Amino acid sequence: MREFDYIIVGGGCAGLSLAYELEIHDKLKNKTLAIIEPRDEYKRDKTWSFWKVFSHNFDDCVKKSWTNFTINTANETKYIDCKQTPYQTIDSGMFYEKILTKLRLNKNIYYLKNADEINNSNSIIFNSVPKFEKKRGNLWQHFCGVEIETDKDFFDDEIFNLMDFACDQRNKVHFFYTLPFSKRNALVETTWISDLNDERIKDYDDQIDNYLSNHLNIRDCKINFKETGTIPLFRQENLKNNKEIFIGSAGGMTRLSTGYTFLNIQEQSKYIRENIERIKSVNLYQIDKKYDFLDKILLKVLKNNSSEMSNIFFKVFNSSPQTAINFLSNKSNFFEDLEVILKMPKWKFLKEII
Ligand SMILES: Cc1cc2nc3c(=O)[nH]c(=O)nc-3n(C[C@H](O)[C@H](O)[C@H](O)COP(=O)(O)OP(=O)(O)OC[C@H]3O[C@@H](n4cnc5c(N)ncnc54)[C@H](O)[C@@H]3O)c2cc1C
Repeated sequence: MREFDYIIVGGGCAGLSLAYELEIHDKLKNKTLAIIEPRDEYKRDKTWSFWKVFSHNFDDCVKKSWTNFTINTANETKYIDCKQTPYQTIDSGMFYEKILTKLRLNKNIYYLKNADEINNSNSIIFNSVPKFEKKRGNLWQHFCGVEIETDKDFFDDEIFNLMDFACDQRNKVHFFYTLPFSKRNALVETTWISDLNDERIKDYDDQIDNYLSNHLNIRDCKINFKETGTIPLFRQENLKNNKEIFIGSAGGMTRLSTGYTFLNIQEQSKYIRENIERIKSVNLYQIDKKYDFLDKILLKVLKNNSSEMSNIFFKVFNSSPQTAINFLSNKSNFFEDLEVILKMPKWKFLKEII
C-alpha cells in the first residue's frame, strides 16, 4: 500500500487550485501528493465567471473580461459599470492545461484514478467530491448554456447581460445570461432556481432555441460548446470531520444566493496553503456567516415569491454598483451590507425571519 503526505480527492476546480497554490509556494518540496481523479482526460467542461474583487492565479486563463453589464426585465434595463472590478470569464480548458503543465514538473505528485491502493491513515486528506442529497425544500441553481457562433457580426462584446428576466417564468425563478466573447460568439444560458422536482422546466434546448430566435432574433448559428450544471444552494452536512478537510463546493465555497464559487475556492486554497503546516488545528475556511444568514432569508423569500427575483436584483443594483458587486462577491463592509439590506422589500424579508 502506498502512502502520501497529502491526498486530494477530486482533481476538479478546487482540487487542482489547491495543488497549484501549494506547488507555486513551494509547499510540496519534500512532500508527496496524490491527486485522485477518475476522469480520463481534461477538456473544457465549464465556464467560470466572477467579478475580479481580488487578484488570483489565473489571469492568463481569462477568455474575456467586461467593464459593463446589464440586467433587465421586459420593461426596464439597468446599465451597470464594473470598471473597478471587471467581470472575468475563465476557460476551464486553459485552467486545467496551465495547472497540469506546472504540476507535471514535480515528480512527487502522483495521479490516481481511485484510492484502492492507498494507505491514507497518516495522510492529510482534502476532499472535493460533493455528496449533496436532493432533500425536500432545498433549492438548486440549474442551467444549460450554449456557446454559439453567428456568421455575421451580431453582439456588442463590450457589455454582457447578467440577468434577462424577459422570459417565460413558469412560476419559478428563471432568467437568461449572455456573455458575448466577440461580435460573433457568445455563451447564452438559461438559468433556473428551483427544487429540481419539476421536469417540465428542464426543456433547456427548446428554451434556448426560443430565446435565440424570438428574443435575440438569431435564426442561424453554430453551437460550439454546451455546458449544463446544477449548483446546490444549500450546505453539505457534516463538514467537520477529523479524517478529511472538505474543499470546493463540497467544502461550502458556493455563495448560496448566486452560485458563485470560483473565487471562494481560490481564497480557500490560499488559506490552506498559508496554514498547511498546522492545517488540522486551525479553523475551517468558511464564507462569512453573515452571507449565509442573509442568503438563506433571500432564498426563502424567492421560494415563496418567485416573481420577486427580478425586483430584488434590481433593488440590489439600486445601491451603488460597487456596493452591489462587493455584496454579491462577499466583500462588503457593514455599511455596504446596510445599504443593500435597506433596499430590500422589508415586509417580505421580515416575514421569513420571524
Ligand atoms: C457548468 C458549471 C458552470 C459554473 N459556472 C460558475 C461560474 O461562472 N462562476 C462560479 O463562481 N462558479 C461556477 N460554477 C460553480 C463552481 O465554480 C464549479 O462547480 C466548480 O467546478 C466547483 O469546483 P469543485 O472542485 O468543488 O468541483 P468540481 O470542479 O466538479 O470537481 C470535483 C472533481 O471530483 C471528481 N470526482 C467525482 N467523483 C469522484 C470520486 N468518487 N473520487 C475522486 N474524484 C471524483 C470529478 O471528476 C471532478 O473532477 C459552475 C458550475 C458548473 C457545474
